[in-house]
Amino acid sequence: MTRILVLNAGSSSLKYEVIDLAAPDERVGGIVERIGEPGSGVPDHAAAARRVLDTLGDTRPDAVGHRIVHGGTRFVEPTLIDDDVEAGIEALVDLAPLHNPPGLAGIRAARAVLPHVPHVAVFDTAFHATLPDHAAAYAIDPAVAAEAGIRRYGFHGTSFAFVSRATAQFLDRPIEELRLIVLHLGNGASACAISGGVSIDTTMGLTPLEGLVMGTRSGDIDPGVLLHLARLGRSVDEIDDLLNRRSGLFGMAGSNDLRDVASAAEAGDPSAGLAIEVMLHRLRKYLGAYAGEIGGVDAVVFTAGIGENAGWLRARAVERLGFLGIAVDAERNGRGDGARRISPDGSPVEVLVIPTDEELEIAEQTAKVAFAD
Ligand code: AMP
Repeated sequence: MTRILVLNAGSSSLKYEVIDLAAPDERVGGIVERIGEPGSGVPDHAAAARRVLDTLGDTRPDAVGHRIVHGGTRFVEPTLIDDDVEAGIEALVDLAPLHNPPGLAGIRAARAVLPHVPHVAVFDTAFHATLPDHAAAYAIDPAVAAEAGIRRYGFHGTSFAFVSRATAQFLDRPIEELRLIVLHLGNGASACAISGGVSIDTTMGLTPLEGLVMGTRSGDIDPGVLLHLARLGRSVDEIDDLLNRRSGLFGMAGSNDLRDVASAAEAGDPSAGLAIEVMLHRLRKYLGAYAGEIGGVDAVVFTAGIGENAGWLRARAVERLGFLGIAVDAERNGRGDGARRISPDGSPVEVLVIPTDEELEIAEQTAKVAFAD
């Protein structure tokens, strides 16, 4: 019982990977795209799920793990899916109207084509269920917050769970004694302060919009900006589109890929240069803030597409933090792949690159729940 199908449903795509936990490096996977687009031949997620199974042929999974973005306050652990859980995830659509519907569609489609295997929902928010109240609460009227489910939830939880454990392994130290700042820098980006293996603060909030500058998302912004735009006549949908899809690197510099923005900056494009400086400014701010909040740091860990590949950005993110003992060695930072140390020998704070593996984390959590005795 070790073959897990991991499904990650987006609004118009269904990513899949089959991971045999007995041989996790040999994987079969792919993506069904353009779901619901005219002429694509994939009218809905149900059709996409059937296509995935056709592709897999005889390689039938023993269980299915579903990546679900928002678990609200109800789902704080990976959860075996039955009709009641499915209804519970549907009830969260109000809280995460952009993010939960595709996941729900994926669950329905996969349960229909694979009714006899266990299905498990793994939530991006779950790792942050430990946030202390002072990090979870927004400073607003608690009655309003309670009525609308408004609090800070945090996301990228499967990645932070995987990377924090992998960091403890890499350092050969018990996770319980580690104070970590993990920077998950991909197209979506967030930072997490992890003390003793537990999330104590993270940059994303009610939705994955808060915090760091991302590929297309603004990250932190004065909420007064939204009010101002609304008073100028912009609709809710327009503001949503502006902040979620036309901001960040893309909004400031025309591409959501940091490689493009970096080459444009090098060629002298001032908006590309500014986008990078704003991104770095936000990163340094949170590094300093989290060091203060945890009360010290054992390791700063970079992960995801940007964190694992953009050495120049890692170096610049920590360039003024030498007074906290955080520094990178230029030569180590410039080469290598896989899990590695990039801080100088004898440095008080370890600076590491630890590749994330959200699919493997989902597969492992799924197996634990699906085949628990
Ligand atoms: P992810 O969401 O984790 O897959 O990360 C994807 C993002 O990583 C891309 O949009 C790029 O901006 C970024 N990325 C990947 N490789 C590099 C690289 N060598 N240099 C800079 N950015 C990179």
